[in-house]
Parts: sequence; C-alpha cells; structure tokens
Amino acid sequence: MPVSWFDLTEAQSADKARELGLPAFRGRQIWHWLHKSLASQYDEMTNLPLSLRERLQKEMPIFSIRPVQVQRSVLDDTVKYLFELEDGSLIESVLMHYHHGYTVCVSSQVGCRMGCRFCASTLGGLERDLSAGEMLQQVYVIEREEKIQVSHIVVMGCGEPFDNYDEVMRFLSILHAPEGQNMSFRNMTVSTCGLLDGLKRFTEEDIPVTLAISLHAPNDDIRKQLMPIANRVAMDDLLEACRAYTRKSGRRVTFEYALVKGVNDSEENARELARRLKGLLCHVNLIPVNPVAERGLAGPERSQVQRFEKVLNEEQIPVTIRRELGRDIDGACGQLRRRHRTEMEAIG
Ligand code: SAH
Repeated sequence: MPVSWFDLTEAQSADKARELGLPAFRGRQIWHWLHKSLASQYDEMTNLPLSLRERLQKEMPIFSIRPVQVQRSVLDDTVKYLFELEDGSLIESVLMHYHHGYTVCVSSQVGCRMGCRFCASTLGGLERDLSAGEMLQQVYVIEREEKIQVSHIVVMGCGEPFDNYDEVMRFLSILHAPEGQNMSFRNMTVSTCGLLDGLKRFTEEDIPVTLAISLHAPNDDIRKQLMPIANRVAMDDLLEACRAYTRKSGRRVTFEYALVKGVNDSEENARELARRLKGLLCHVNLIPVNPVAERGLAGPERSQVQRFEKVLNEEQIPVTIRRELGRDIDGACGQLRRRHRTEMEAIG
C-alpha cells in the first residue's frame, strides 16, 4: 500500500512535504484540510496553488473510501455504511444516535482472525489490517455525508483492534489532535477479546480511552466454547491484566457479555460471573446475542436476560442491558458486509 496523507500525523505530514521539495507548512495545510475541514480531494484545498494541486494529484493521489451501500433503520436513527477501500476490500461502519451525540462504530481490520463463534466478521478469516487513515475516513466520510459532527467513536466494528495495535493507536491520536477533530480520549472506546500483550501496552499508554473487554463467559470452559482466544488466554490472567489496568488508570473496565441461550445465560452463570468480578472496578454490559444464520446460536428470552441482570444487581456488580439499535439493518458485526458479498457472488 502506498503511503496516504490520511495516515500521517501533522508532524509527519510536514516531513512528507519537505520530502516532496515543498515547504513544511504545505504539509500542515494539507493535514488541516484533511483532518479539520474534512476535504477528500486536492481540488477542495483552495489555498494551495493550482499547479501544486495538479502535481500532487499525479504524485500522491488521495483515495477516499467510498460508500457502496447505506442502510437506514426505520426503528431508530442508526445508519449502517458499507465502504469500499482502494484495493476493493469491503468494511462496515455504523452511525448511532444517542442523547449525548453521534457515535461511529469503527472497523479496525478487513475480516478478523479471532474466530468467535457468534460473530459474522470472522467467518471469512482476516484479509488485512486497516491503516489509521482508513479508520479516520470511516468517521470523516460519515460526518460529511450526514452533515453531522461525531462526538464519540467505539472501535467495535469488524476486526480485533489489539491485533492491529499500532495503527489503532495512531488512529486514536490523530482523532484526538487539537488541530484536527480534537476528540477527547474520554469519548473513545476500544473493545478487545483480550490479547494480553495489547492489554499491557494499552495500560502503559496511560490515556483515558475506555477499555471494553469481550468476556462473554463466567469461566474458561464456557469461554472456550465461544471464543478460541480462551485457549490461549486464561480468564484468571485476563482478569488480572484488567485489575492492573484499573489500578494504573483508576478507570472502570467495561465487560461485554453476549448472552447465548443455553450456553452462558443461566442464573448460576451470573452468580459465577459475579464471584469472578467481585472487587474489580468494572461495569457489565449484557447483550442478547444477535443471531448469525451460519452459527445457529440464539439469544435468550427477554425474561432470562432480566433474571441474569437481577443476579448481578443482587451481587452489586454494576450492570446494564445494551439498548439494541439497528435491529432491522443487520446491526450485528460483519453481517452487512457478509450479505453484500454473498449477493455479489450470487450475481457472479
Ligand atoms: N474484536 C473486538 C471488537 C469487535 S466486536 C472484540 O472482541 O471486542 C464488538 C463486540 O460485539 C464484541 O463484544 C463482540 O463479542 C460482540 N459481538 C460480535 N458478534 C456479536 C453477535 N452476533 N451478537 C452480539 N454481540 C456480538
């Protein structure tokens, strides 16, 4: 992949300009156009001489990710974007509207190699990592298309962010840069299935980005049934790394728990979970699993979700049931991309 302007920090952009024989300020101008004014082409950069725009267009063309399908929920304001990248890869991003503003759910990889049983993103394996610029553009293109300002992002789309650690961190820091979007780290969440090396590095970063851990089970046996990563990372070690994170950051960890009927949704499972999490600064987010046709796993009845929640409440573990958005537009990870590809294959 050639270097894209979108992947560079402001300082790197100034260096790049020098490399091209231009004054450093040109690099900063371009950076501002891309990350503050959300330009997608040199044509829009009106304070650059026309001759320079033409030269750059030849030497370093800007590729902007391209929406190929947009689905709007009729139940709520959720919008799902399917994007095509420069190499033809497909990724998806979701825009959600909450009382506190607009949140974009960003993909960090094309596909995923973690193999979670309930997840559609992983069905075709990992195709490649996304660059920081490709993650940024998911936010920028949606802001432009929808004419809105996005206040929060969650790295919870396709992919495992800690399997693409450096680019994800660069994405967060460019989004945070005061001269660009200036998004507060506190408005960002990274969700991981629990890669320990990444977790330790993330703890050392010491930035107030919210950490979410996909736990989905009260013990290793059940976790192994749902998540292959559990064969490599024991829950004890995972929870110990989370404790270390809370000690260092003083911040709460969010545990995501997708309830799967008959697998991890009993009151006994809830009690065991509460025992394991006791004393850990955390919050549990319950999500009835979104059925994925290929997987044959179903979510529990609403009443069972509430029984699970009640046990955690009794045990004084902070818990919420996730509001389900975009149910009518293939809300769950990877489903739109997967369906689009299947349809395209059917067409031939
Ligand atoms: N790889 C990262 C982030 C992507 S998935 C991670 O594992 O956290 C974002 C969240 O959606 C994770 O908690 C994931 O387990 C969950 N998820 C994936 N498929 C789901 C489904 N069908 N129903 C409910 N949650 C799902």
